[in-house]
Amino acid sequence: MTKILAVASEVFPLVKTGGLADVVGALPSALKHHGIEMRVMLPVYPAVAASLKQAKPIHHYDDLFGGKVRILAGQAHGLDFLAVEAPHLFDRPGNPYLGPDGKDWPDNWMRFAALSRAAADVGSGRIKAFVPDIVHVHDWQAALAAAYLNFAARPAAKVILTVHNIAFQGHFPASIFASLGLPVEAFAIGGVEYYGGVGFLKGGLQYADAITTVSPSYADEITTPEYGMGLDGLLRARRSVLTGIVNGVDTTVWNPASDDHLALPYVARNFIQRRQANKRAIEQRLGLEEHEGPLFCVVSRLTGQKGMDILALCLDDLVGQGARLALLGSGEAQLESDFKAAASQYPGRIGVVTGYDEGLSHLLQGGADAILIPSRFEPCGLTQLYGLRYGCVPVVSRVGGLADTIVDANEAALDRESATGIQFAPVDASSLTRAIERATRLYADRKAWNSIQKAGMKTDVSWEKSAVRYKQLYQKLLQNR
Ligand code: ADP
Repeated sequence: MTKILAVASEVFPLVKTGGLADVVGALPSALKHHGIEMRVMLPVYPAVAASLKQAKPIHHYDDLFGGKVRILAGQAHGLDFLAVEAPHLFDRPGNPYLGPDGKDWPDNWMRFAALSRAAADVGSGRIKAFVPDIVHVHDWQAALAAAYLNFAARPAAKVILTVHNIAFQGHFPASIFASLGLPVEAFAIGGVEYYGGVGFLKGGLQYADAITTVSPSYADEITTPEYGMGLDGLLRARRSVLTGIVNGVDTTVWNPASDDHLALPYVARNFIQRRQANKRAIEQRLGLEEHEGPLFCVVSRLTGQKGMDILALCLDDLVGQGARLALLGSGEAQLESDFKAAASQYPGRIGVVTGYDEGLSHLLQGGADAILIPSRFEPCGLTQLYGLRYGCVPVVSRVGGLADTIVDANEAALDRESATGIQFAPVDASSLTRAIERATRLYADRKAWNSIQKAGMKTDVSWEKSAVRYKQLYQKLLQNR
């Protein structure tokens, strides 16, 4: 059995702020029947402590970054965890990254250096209860493990770093370096030094044995100045170890045939009628009027990355065409108030729920006609995959994982009945408006629309294919050992 330690700052269903948590939560069971034993390391936030009451200590530190720390082994929700219990760092309720003022915790560098340090100690074989062959770290919060492991005694585990979003890099002032416990030579251009400070993701990219990101297109994009967010040069230099593997979705959690959040579950045979009941439930919940045009939905962080400011510019036109919008999102205060203002301007036509609501996110996919995803960049994206599975047609910008997973409804694809959604480019208000117009026209042609829905629902969005790619990558790394 190949042993993998996955390391991340959030894992569904224990703690989630975005797609990262879904991926880390889904991979272990997808890989299990491929002979891979994966344990997941995460911090013990209060929500995690509640789920891991039976966990047993397997290691302790008298002082790690200013307090006593234990590594606990336990199980919850079918996953095997190694949890880093550090009350002085993680026993804080709410969002894992932000304090009550909505700003990053000032000691985030220390919190996630501690997570990374613990991961590296497991990876170096110091903790006999679990000695992994590979440490698979996710995003900047775990990336420093690659640096720690680079300087650990051999033999140590190989390191894979998966980048879920290169916009989040963990960049801190140089003054923290001395407290990280890395040798001085690590503070160099070939190490963790980044524009005069310390870059957690940058260091991870430098030291990891392999780098993955969550779609082939995004793997290409981040090697360019337009999308690389300053790390494109380093990624060009490391292109030979960089691959893109598209995310799957958890097909038991996201299954329209058995989804408790739907007013009426459905399968391919009866989806057309049954989705109507879900649409009625959305209308009631969001105060929308029945109308013959399409009902678009959005389930998203309300940020510039997600193109939500662009969507806000298209609402007059969307309503003008007879379409409606049901939006669920949370994020930037300005965008929240812009969308709320649009909902009051167009009562019955635009409904907005701000906040995070897992149940409503399912209902929207199960009853809306189409989901709008106008991201400026999108490493993989999950909501378009849920949309495919639920027959909620994705209308997406042609970037990253959106470009890789949606087949545009051009004439050739419509003829072959292989179209699964609508793509548009460039990412601006006039292209998005045209895409909404195209969707509205296609929706009026029920036969074409149903064929797009059916092709989407037939698409394999499970983890199966991607699990095989990860397995191959693990095998390749271990061959070179
Ligand atoms: P990202 O991780 O960049 O936010 P993804 O599309 O990869 O984007 O994943 C977003 C995940 O978060 C999806 O599972 C989506 O359904 C969920 N989500 C986003 N916003 C909300 C919300 N307001 N309420 C419930 N779920 C949400």
